Amino acid sequence: MIEKVLIANRGEIALRIHRACKEMGIATVVVHSEADEQSMAVRLADESVCIGPAASAKSYLKKSAILTAAEITGADAIHPGYGFLSENAQFAEMVAAHGIAFIGPTAEHIRTMGDKIAAKQAMIDAGVPVVPGSEGGVRTLGEARKAAKKCGYPVLIKAAAGGGGRGMRVAKTDKDLDTAMKAAKQEAKAAFGDDAVYIEKYLEKPRHIEIQVIADSHGNVAHLWERDCSLQRRHQKVFEEAPSPALNQAQREDIGMIVARAVSRLGYLGAGTMEFLYEDGNFYFIEMNTRLQVEHPITEMITGIDLVREQIRIANGAKLSFAQDEVLLVGHAIECRLNAEHPETFVPSPGLITDFHAPGGPGVRLDSAAYAGYNIPPHYDSLIGKLIVHGRTRRECVMRLRRALAEMIIGGVETTLPLHRRLAEEKDVIDGDYNIHWLEQFLERTSDKT
Ligand code: ADP
Repeated sequence: MIEKVLIANRGEIALRIHRACKEMGIATVVVHSEADEQSMAVRLADESVCIGPAASAKSYLKKSAILTAAEITGADAIHPGYGFLSENAQFAEMVAAHGIAFIGPTAEHIRTMGDKIAAKQAMIDAGVPVVPGSEGGVRTLGEARKAAKKCGYPVLIKAAAGGGGRGMRVAKTDKDLDTAMKAAKQEAKAAFGDDAVYIEKYLEKPRHIEIQVIADSHGNVAHLWERDCSLQRRHQKVFEEAPSPALNQAQREDIGMIVARAVSRLGYLGAGTMEFLYEDGNFYFIEMNTRLQVEHPITEMITGIDLVREQIRIANGAKLSFAQDEVLLVGHAIECRLNAEHPETFVPSPGLITDFHAPGGPGVRLDSAAYAGYNIPPHYDSLIGKLIVHGRTRRECVMRLRRALAEMIIGGVETTLPLHRRLAEEKDVIDGDYNIHWLEQFLERTSDKT
């Protein structure tokens, strides 16, 4: 029985996990760096342990320090959140070896899906459609040329170990291939210590649509519909919605069942997300994330299911608390990522939050660890919160989003709040008429005017 969970993360997600634990009557321990002494998660958790200095490598990524904290506090499970060690197979193994439950999939699945070449192969074997491209990795320019010719230009060179949009380069023609490949390899080596790359057809106007899945240890698997995360900047999600305005009910049921069947065939355990590009009515798998995602709340809003609670139940050996045919899809939800960044230049803006007002009222949820008087440390990513709204219809949801954004106040630092206010007024966003390039084109178009 899990009675005490150690939260190996920070910021809004640490708080999110704490909240699920409290609602289940489970005690919490949060580990933190010296820079996060004043964080809300530290203030609210039942116990906290400082595990090192500000630099992530010496704190949030330090496996031995986290395990020692679990040992000292007697935690019987570890939730890794997202980022940091959440997709580190070795960490999952170490946690299990210490007799502690890892709230996530098995190390084996984390390892397979973490290697995007292996993941793609596993999906082909499981009958999931993938983006056309090289069969496995490409080591030489000759191999790259052959693969690119087969699927046709433009192509995308991607890092096998990729994440966060890094290690990715487009080659429009054969002439660009050499430079693009070198750049992708270099970036991949620097970011992941692994320069293996592969080639995919570069889709020109797809949407990013991902399917949430969850599986227990009793063989029960369910999908929880899709999220549309096409509004991106530098391959990073900015604004997400569920369900996707591009799909009808038959299409979402079809892809949901394809994914659920594949997950079942893989013997996958826990929560996960299969990411696809969607163009001209076709789905193409790009990767699977073996963890809770930043944008998981929009799925929670339309289904009424608490994903963190289900993750903890699964780690406890319990069955999913619902069957596939009990997964509702009620209304529409949108999430805006609030980053402490300049809304036009996207330069990070850490520092003191002098003023903070959270919007409220019907259908509004704010997942944030920020408060007035909180000093955002400069050492971590710039996400300071997520504004999530739900409405009975997409139209109601958009109107609610506008009024919630208007109510929200974050003073003292620059944030992306003004960008979201602009987006919520844009016709294409209101109509749901956008693809993965729309936001970058919008930013380019509107920066010309200033
Ligand atoms: P990461 O793991 O770095 O997030 P992904 O494979 O998930 O990388 O891709 C991130 C984003 O990059 C996608 O959401 C999409 O916008 C873009 N992208 C990835 N593959 C392709 C492709 N074959 N064609 C066009 N865009 C792509």
